[in-house]
Amino acid sequence: MRVGMGYDVHRLVEGRKLILGGVEIPHETGLLGHSDADVLLHAIMDALLGAAALGDIGKHFPDSDEKYRGISSLRLLEHVRDLLEENLYVINNIDATIIAQAPKMAPHIPEMRKNIARTLCLEENQINIKATTEEGLGFTGSKEGISSQAICSIDSVFGAGVMLASGDGCPGCGSCHSENE
Ligand code: MG
Repeated sequence: MRVGMGYDVHRLVEGRKLILGGVEIPHETGLLGHSDADVLLHAIMDALLGAAALGDIGKHFPDSDEKYRGISSLRLLEHVRDLLEENLYVINNIDATIIAQAPKMAPHIPEMRKNIARTLCLEENQINIKATTEEGLGFTGSKEGISSQAICSIDSVFGAGVMLASGDGCPGCGSCHSENE
């Protein structure tokens, strides 16, 4: 098993949409960024890339690249999913926290989980999203920005195959030849 963590911050400004977990949330300010600035998905992608030792989203989606201007971060998450798949990793679970003074996140969390699970081809019970304020303290408390943290666990398909082959009664993953066959 491997784990990864991700952290991201975006500034709140007027005249931008607030998009978190692929959900557009009605609010007087939105997050500033080159893409849609979905700070939750950015933290999740960095956790996934970190667990797979594949760098970070700045490396894969540089903000100097015009093709990422205004892009939905769900599209970027699809790309991260494909990168993990190419490297033979499966995702066990993701746990993330949104840190924001406002607006209330609870009504939107079920849809965020749905969006993330659908994009990553996972069950919703593999995705947990939490939200907290920082009690009015710091840049999130003053509503200057929103931050997010995420952690995930992944497994190597190859590693799982080796473990199965070494145990009693290999269930037959197709990639090994145990004595049971
Ligand atoms: Mg970001």
